[in-house]
Amino acid sequence: MGQNHNNNRRDFLKKAGFIAGSAFLSTGTKGCAKTNNRRGSSVGKTMNLKFTPYELQLKHAFTLASGSRTTTPVMLTEIEYDGVIGYGEASMPPYLGESHETVRKFLTKVELNRFKDPFLTEDILDYINTIAPGNFAAKASVDIALYDLLGKLMEQPWYRIWGFNPDDTPDTSFTIGIDKPDVVKEKTREASPYNILKVKMGRDNDREMINSVRSVTDKPLCVDVNQGWKDRSEALEMIHWLKEKGIVFVEQPMPKTMVEDIAWLTQNSPLPIIADEALQTVDDIRNVFGVYSGVNIKLMKCGGMRAARQMALAAKGLGMKVMFGCMTETSCAVTAAAQLSPMADWADLDGNLLITNDVFDGLKIVEGRIVLPDRPGIGVLEK
Ligand code: MG
Repeated sequence: MGQNHNNNRRDFLKKAGFIAGSAFLSTGTKGCAKTNNRRGSSVGKTMNLKFTPYELQLKHAFTLASGSRTTTPVMLTEIEYDGVIGYGEASMPPYLGESHETVRKFLTKVELNRFKDPFLTEDILDYINTIAPGNFAAKASVDIALYDLLGKLMEQPWYRIWGFNPDDTPDTSFTIGIDKPDVVKEKTREASPYNILKVKMGRDNDREMINSVRSVTDKPLCVDVNQGWKDRSEALEMIHWLKEKGIVFVEQPMPKTMVEDIAWLTQNSPLPIIADEALQTVDDIRNVFGVYSGVNIKLMKCGGMRAARQMALAAKGLGMKVMFGCMTETSCAVTAAAQLSPMADWADLDGNLLITNDVFDGLKIVEGRIVLPDRPGIGVLEK
């Protein structure tokens, strides 16, 4: 009788179109509702990870003290589950120590088939973290692909799942590298679509850099010193001068090891002081609290979207400023970071604009501001 009753009721529900999601109604027919619920079941399904090395071509040579390069190696990842594909990416600028080889080695050890349910994100990403220390870009490539997959399974973009207002996305800054005045002026003119520029400093021509940019535009500027200043009194003097020139904040003014000096500088500075090289992941927030006014969070530094969100929440909870940055990356990783950008004070998400061979469509920059795609997951499409 019970069995019959249940079958009748299930038939009715099926006709009425209510069968999906009715697990709680189907007592006595364990598992039936689950298998009827498209994508509600994990029975017999596995997550499959694929990865492909790729070389990004840079529009302009990237120059550091150690030399110049025109490419950045990346690893493009995919997690397939139930016919749905999530996309991810690792970007490996050489100075951070990861490479095609190290990422390949890491990803080869990843066994996603030990998890039957992709929604066990915390378990899965905790497991990824235990495979090996470091390898943050490799970890980010799995994290991003998993988040993209989950968003697609839920049929919602992450900014909606997290409850962020897409109208709250910030402008992205555009970076002006250290160069001769004429080149700097030209680059500043080319940056006319952007509302805020990031000027690299920390060599012997800081004032010249700012004066060159200022001769072309009166837009807000931020500066990134990349640990270039060594004397805190001189640094403070420079920051007062920068404030007069309309600079909004100063990123990593002194070497990350000069903790006492930076804390003093932050205390006395009329501008916010942002940590970049000084922090990597969520464990570092406690180290930079009280030393800097804010943090520059990058998916490739911290291991992906989960860690980036944790860091942003921790920093905001401590009253610190939050900025999201990136490496040279395709629109995949940049758009993943952009999903979090409504919670940021500033964004420096221009990595996809610096390459000529992007393989994804994702975020758009409209009148200088980040516009998130209205698509599920991280919202990217393969070109
Ligand atoms: Mg920086």
